[in-house]
Amino acid sequence: YSGKKPTQSVADGMIGMKVGDFQSIPVVVNENVTVYDAICQMFLDDVGTLFVVDKSSYLSGVLSRKDLLRTSLGKSELDKMPVHVIMTRMPNITYCKKQDSLIQAAKKMIEQQIDSLPVVTIKEEGLEVVGRITKTNITRAFLSLAEDHEL
Ligand code: ADP
Repeated sequence: YSGKKPTQSVADGMIGMKVGDFQSIPVVVNENVTVYDAICQMFLDDVGTLFVVDKSSYLSGVLSRKDLLRTSLGKSELDKMPVHVIMTRMPNITYCKKQDSLIQAAKKMIEQQIDSLPVVTIKEEGLEVVGRITKTNITRAFLSLAEDHEL
C-alpha cells in the first residue's frame, strides 16, 4: 500500500496520462483531393475529422464534418472542388504532441471548441501528423482512470 489518500493517487494518475498513451490513428488526405472524395473518406474510415497534408506530407489543414456539410449545402461542384479551398488552414491549427499531458489536450479542445487535435512531431520544414486525439479518447481515458482506481 502506497500510503497515499485515494484522491491523491487519482490526481497522480490523471497528471500522468499522456497524449501518446491514448491517441488514435490519424486519417489524412492530400490537399488536392476533392470535397466529394473527402466525404467518402470520412465515411470509409468512420472519423469526424480529416487532417489535410501538403505534397511533402506536412500538416496543412483540418476538415470537420460541418466544413463538408456547409460546402455540400452550396451550389459548388463537390467533385471538382479541392479541399484546400474549404479547410481550416495552418497556421490556425491547434495541435498537440505525444508527450503532452491529456489534460492539456482536453483544455485546448474545450477552449477552441473543437472535437479533435492532430498529434504532431515538429520538424524544421513542418508538422508531421502522427496521431489524433478526440473527445472519445478523453472519455476513454476518463473511464480507464476510474477502472484503475476501482471506482
Ligand atoms: P464540426 O465543425 O463538425 O462541429 P469541430 O467543432 O471539430 O467540428 O470544428 C469546428 C471548426 O473548427 C471547423 O471549421 C474545423 O475546420 C475547425 N477545426 C477543427 N479542428 C481544429 C483544430 N485542431 N485546429 C483548428 N481548427 C480546427
